Amino acid sequence: MNQAVTKPTLSIRDLKPREGYARLIEAKDEKTGLHALVSIHSLSRGPAAGGCRMFNYGRIEDAIYDVERLSRGMTYKNAAAELPLGGGKSVIIGDPKTQKTPELMRAFGAFIDHLAGDYYTAEDVGVSPQDMANVAETTRFVAGLDGGEFASGDPSPVTARGVFLCLKQTLKHGLGTEDLTGKTIAIQGLGHVGMSLAGMLHEAGASLIVSDINEEAVLTAKAEFGAKVVSPDEILYQDADVFAPCAMGGVLTAEAIEALKVRFVVGAANNQLADDSCGQRLQDKGILYAPDYIVNGGGIVNVAMEILKISDPTYRESRISGLATTLEQVFVRAEETGEPPHLVADRLIERRLA
Ligand code: NAD
Repeated sequence: MNQAVTKPTLSIRDLKPREGYARLIEAKDEKTGLHALVSIHSLSRGPAAGGCRMFNYGRIEDAIYDVERLSRGMTYKNAAAELPLGGGKSVIIGDPKTQKTPELMRAFGAFIDHLAGDYYTAEDVGVSPQDMANVAETTRFVAGLDGGEFASGDPSPVTARGVFLCLKQTLKHGLGTEDLTGKTIAIQGLGHVGMSLAGMLHEAGASLIVSDINEEAVLTAKAEFGAKVVSPDEILYQDADVFAPCAMGGVLTAEAIEALKVRFVVGAANNQLADDSCGQRLQDKGILYAPDYIVNGGGIVNVAMEILKISDPTYRESRISGLATTLEQVFVRAEETGEPPHLVADRLIERRLA
């Protein structure tokens, strides 16, 4: 932390959190235009950790709804990865393209510092490692930095490895073998995680069908991994073993599930189920769904090592392979009870939290 930086004057107050949540805190700073919220859902496993999202929410109620929903999600994700961290999240209200300045991020850092380590922030949508470097000038309760002794950098390759291991575990559970030779994986989204995953799957002998709205990305996957390219509209309709959503959330709608011709869904995207009924729909169609917050936990494992100041790579590997172990526990329990895996996963994690 750079002590030479003077902290801006902030107005910080506690708001009433939703029932079952630990805290909701609001900060405003007239000088920089900062208007931010931190939601701490749970501190039961350790300090709360979760990224900071900057978005131009139309109404404060929308920002509160989003930050609390995401904060609760982080409690589950952190516990699924067996990390000694609780769940939290922050949002900065504003347009990241026009309203984000180093001063604003420093003021946000001062807000985080005020929480004295109950919440650690990192980047999320609309916020970059450079922004986090500005945040780090006014607080040490920040991760996702590019430089520094425990800096964890881009978490995407670690996330992709977690998805890869969970995908193999899902095949093993469903087919009795995790061998990817001759298996076809349909990947939606070839960004930071999707492209890295595509490389691992290709290396392991899988055939790939890919789609992305970014032409360059699909051409890369075609050239490097021999992937078959289909349009974003067609990816759901492919004859494949696995559908791997690695673009955006909410993709598993009733219509999408109707279209799917796969036996398994395993991917990196957050909040894949459009709503809870879609988890049941997948089950009714005989598609085994690997709950997203278990599968994509590699990213938070990476960030956690920075927060917990752990440099031993075996810790990373053990937590990532632990994701596949947790997933198998969910599948076994789901089979025993006949319930869909997304519900079983929530209950398993709630037992860990209790
Ligand atoms: P990214 O922005 O790098 O990649 C997303 C890709 O999806 C882009 O290439 C984009 O062009 C593509 N895309 C967008 N809309 C599409 C559409 N309709 N059809 C096909 N492709 C489309 O993001 P990322 O970091 O690779 O993350 C992917 C997903 O995984 C996101 O949902 C993210 O929240 C989640 N996730 C990422 C991490 C991580 O470590 N990066 C960790 C946990 C969860």
